[in-house]
Amino acid sequence: MAERIEVLLTEQEVNDKIREIGEQISRDYQGKQVYLVCILKGASFFACELAKRISVPVFLDFMSVSSYGSDTMSSGVIRVVKDLDESLKDKDVIVVEDIVDTGRTLSYLLEMLKARGTRSLALCALLDKPERRVTDVHVDYTGFQIPDEFVVGYGLDYDQKYRNLPYIGIVKF
Ligand code: 5GP
Repeated sequence: MAERIEVLLTEQEVNDKIREIGEQISRDYQGKQVYLVCILKGASFFACELAKRISVPVFLDFMSVSSYGSDTMSSGVIRVVKDLDESLKDKDVIVVEDIVDTGRTLSYLLEMLKARGTRSLALCALLDKPERRVTDVHVDYTGFQIPDEFVVGYGLDYDQKYRNLPYIGIVKF
C-alpha cells in the first residue's frame, strides 16, 4: 500500500528551531560541559544538528532502547539494546529524543539514567504530542508541539523508511 507524506514542518522551520534550542542550551549551560545522550535511531539527525549549534563543550553518546509494547503503543518497560560508552556520574546530561508521545519510554529511561548519579538531567525533544501524554514527564527543551498524527522524517521512520527526509511529514494512508 502506497502512503503519502504531507509536509508538517519544513526543513527551514526545523533548522531554525534547532538553532534556537542550541542557543538556549548554550546560555543555560554557560561555563559547563554538556553530555548529550542521543536515543537511537530516531534522535540521531536531531542530536548531531543540535550539537553543532551548542557553543559550550559537548560530549555525545548514544543509547539504543527497545520497548516491550506493540508497534503503536509503548509499554514503558524498556530494554537497553546498546548502552552508553561512558559513565554519567557527576555529569550535566541532556537526553535528546526525537518525539515524546505517551511519555512512557522517557519516564522509565530518565529514572534509569538519574540512578547513575548525574549532576543534572534535562530532556530535549524535537517534537512533542501533548495530547497523547499519560505520564508527567517534563520536557525542558521542546522544538514543536504537534497534533496527534504519525510523523516521519528528520530521523523518524515508518517501517524504517523516511528517516532521511530533511523535513517532518505526516503519513497519510
Ligand atoms: P512514548 O513512550 O512516548 O509513547 O514513545 C515514544 C517513541 O514512540 C518515540 O521515541 C518514537 O520512537 C515512537 N513514536 C511516537 N510517535 C511517533 C510518530 O508520530 N512517528 C514515529 N515515527 N515514531 C513515533
